[in-house]
Amino acid sequence: MTHSPRILTHTGASRLAGVIGWPVDHSQSPRLHGYWLAHHGIDGAYVPLAVPPDRLAEALAGLPALGFSGANVTIPHKAAVIPLVHHVTAVARQIGAVNTLIVNGDGTITGTNTDAQGFLDNLKQQAPAWTPARPAAVIGAGGAARAVCAALIKAGVPEILLFNRTIDKAAELAESLRIHRAAAIFPLPLTGGMWKARARDIGLMVNATALGMTGHPALELDLSVLQPDAVVADIVYAPLKTPLLVTAEQFGLTTVDGLGMLLHQARAGFSQWFGVMPEVTDELRAFVLSGINA
Ligand code: NAP
Repeated sequence: MTHSPRILTHTGASRLAGVIGWPVDHSQSPRLHGYWLAHHGIDGAYVPLAVPPDRLAEALAGLPALGFSGANVTIPHKAAVIPLVHHVTAVARQIGAVNTLIVNGDGTITGTNTDAQGFLDNLKQQAPAWTPARPAAVIGAGGAARAVCAALIKAGVPEILLFNRTIDKAAELAESLRIHRAAAIFPLPLTGGMWKARARDIGLMVNATALGMTGHPALELDLSVLQPDAVVADIVYAPLKTPLLVTAEQFGLTTVDGLGMLLHQARAGFSQWFGVMPEVTDELRAFVLSGINA
């Protein structure tokens, strides 16, 4: 289906959602949800909601008052909203961040996190042969790494090897996600011996740092030691093909890019707010990508 320019025909009954961030103009979510609204012909709107930190509580209280079905939450509010909502799901507590708000029928707000499920759904779509049989390596210990680790725990990987520049943050992540018995923690940069000793066992490695993002240095890793069936995933999506993924492709490894995680994490919220579970298609990927590259 192609989308020619259309006249927005919101009615008085339009369903409303949006993305709360500060700043929020970098967000791809209005474009993404706008595509699905148009594709499904839904009478709804998804708008950017620029909310400074000192007005976050007011903005949240305003959602039910204004008749919003819910909202996404992005930087810098993902942890700050937790004490401000009425219910927090187990996965959001586990990750320590909320990215999706649902306004319930009684006017209360539930905060949840769809990043972990988005990561897994994207992995299944882009690397369907991957199984959680072997250990996984996660590079990074920030918010995205927490979601990736939660996803891998849910998937049932036997061990997570955590690598991070700041060792204390990796230890904190392992402790709070209770993966200390299954986690090996190594500092970045990885020395050849330490990486090579474990890389042979790995079925999946995930870059969950900002390394490789436009304007950031690349993540340098020797991928030649990975097994030929290992999967290399990057959660960075600008550029879509990070230097890590380019190298992985040169070694003939299966690669998973970060755009799919962004698209898949959005499905659950859209379904809750607008009543349709949307799909992640090649056309959607191309549409969102053209906005990122614009
Ligand atoms: P964050 O909480 O700020 O964590 C940043 C991580 O990157 C930390 O592990 C940090 O290490 C590491 N890092 C940053 N610069 C580094 C450098 N020069 N050398 C080594 N390590 C470095 O950020 P986040 O929210 O986790 O996001 C990380 C990346 O994931 C961003 O690029 C973001 O756009 C992307 N992301 C993608 C999705 C998606 O849907 N695809 C979702 C969320 C995030 P230290 O602990 O040592 O500082």
